[in-house]
Amino acid sequence: MANGDKRDYYEVLGVHKNASEAEIKKAFRKLAIQHHPDKNPGDTAAEEKFKEATEAYEVLSDAQKRAQYDQFGHAGVSGAGGGYSSGFGGFGAGTPFGDIFGDIFGDIFGGSGGGRRAQGRRGDDLLYNMEISFEEAAFGCEKKVEVPFAKRCVTCSGSGAKPGTDPKICPTCRGAGQVRYQQGFFSVSKTCGTCNGEGKVVDDPCPDCRGRGSVKDTKTLSVKVPGGVETGSRLKLTGEGGQGLKGGPNGDLYVAISVKEHPIFQREDTNVICEIPVSFVQAALGCEIEVPTLDGKVSMKIPDGTQSGKIYRLRGKGIPSLQGYGRGDQLVVVKVETPTNLNKKQKDLLEEFAKISGEDAHPLKKSFLDKVMDFIS
Ligand SMILES: [Zn+2]
Ligand SMILES: [Zn+2]
Repeated sequence: MANGDKRDYYEVLGVHKNASEAEIKKAFRKLAIQHHPDKNPGDTAAEEKFKEATEAYEVLSDAQKRAQYDQFGHAGVSGAGGGYSSGFGGFGAGTPFGDIFGDIFGDIFGGSGGGRRAQGRRGDDLLYNMEISFEEAAFGCEKKVEVPFAKRCVTCSGSGAKPGTDPKICPTCRGAGQVRYQQGFFSVSKTCGTCNGEGKVVDDPCPDCRGRGSVKDTKTLSVKVPGGVETGSRLKLTGEGGQGLKGGPNGDLYVAISVKEHPIFQREDTNVICEIPVSFVQAALGCEIEVPTLDGKVSMKIPDGTQSGKIYRLRGKGIPSLQGYGRGDQLVVVKVETPTNLNKKQKDLLEEFAKISGEDAHPLKKSFLDKVMDFIS
């Protein structure tokens, strides 16, 4: 399909541009149930709609791809792995859609949907938990990760058979990888248990991989984390998961982000919140304070008579939006600190201060006391 013919992904799912992950998932579930090819056999229009929705979901459910799509449209995501062309057989358990189809279709099809693709097994999807700092989450970073993966065994070239011997056709399924059995009115096929769907069995296993055809290895990947991610964001690296077997595609690598707590900053969406303590004298007389921001220190004026809890906004000093539209603000919460452990002289001066000011310097307190008087009298 040429890019020009493609409908907008948000339009396809019928969601708003600012839709949350949950809204996108919900919209996709609805369309997937409605148009799933197993529910509409032979209906090519339904199949097209299903494909279209699946493609839209694959992009919009992925924070990184969604950001690219929002910025560059279809051009930003086409060719970026384009995991979708493999057809329905690829959407078994273990694929990104495994979970969603698992819970939608699990009941209908009596299982996870795995085994519909006997030949060319897709590699495993891998999940990597990545912890990054507050600043790295804000501005993005590039991280090296060591990913375990199953590498094709060189000794047996992946066949699992001892060199000089060959795997033989599985006697149970006669090489089909699947066995069919009758259940009520239905003829059901399931993965052959003897050969695990491989269609072949090995009598004399390869000593290096013990007949598995693959050995454990690790690879180092460089992962680009876009600025604006937060705990719970998930990046998908198409094809970087476990190696596919017998010509099957590789699995995908998912990187789940968790952001470390910052000693002074907290985050709310794209805003950074920071509490700054000031003395009651500073708050009363006004002062200039230094405020730490993600871009370094800035100087900020606190006007005289500032109350505790007052929030000042530093525009554009927050977190860049993941979609690439500008930055949030930093909210500076002023916290007036009541002095403790006063010595005699300090106490005397405060007593003196109280004597000469009466209630005039504390309009809130005065008005409160007036109300209390009204209430009890
Ligand atoms: Zn081997
Ligand atoms: Zn078999």
